[in-house]
Amino acid sequence: MNIRQAIFFLVLFTNVALAESDILLFSSETQSQSTLCRDEAAYLNKVLALYPHPTSWTYVIACDEAAWAKTLAHIGLNERAGKRYGETDIDPKEHVTYLRGWVFLHPDSEEITGEHVIVHELCHITLDSRDERKVELRALAMMKEKKDKARLALASTY
Ligand SMILES: [Zn+2]
Repeated sequence: MNIRQAIFFLVLFTNVALAESDILLFSSETQSQSTLCRDEAAYLNKVLALYPHPTSWTYVIACDEAAWAKTLAHIGLNERAGKRYGETDIDPKEHVTYLRGWVFLHPDSEEITGEHVIVHELCHITLDSRDERKVELRALAMMKEKKDKARLALASTY
């Protein structure tokens, strides 16, 4: 299935401006400007401000679990082999990342947080790679680096 078709399929979009990039919100509810969608977009913006990201990209947030299930089905994926939290298409004709927004504000575990999910997808983009192992190692390193910096900054204030 073609991802461009998926974009057209997701009709309940709300467009949130983000410099040269777009955040598209997809909700299964008729009211796509829900508080949940807005909070998830704000969360994504916060994480984007903290980590390297492309200047031009399309991020699609599936705001609720039903919207995520529809998104996965439409891009031809399923969760038979385990839960999915994000999908990035690095093809220059697509440049789109689909995100399971629910996990931003409702982490699945200490490890599976919104930040982790987003940083992992950003690493697919910045490394221009589909290599899951390489991408995940980079994501973990970047999150550790950020934590270490925050710790140092705190220490230097005393
Ligand atoms: Zn991945």
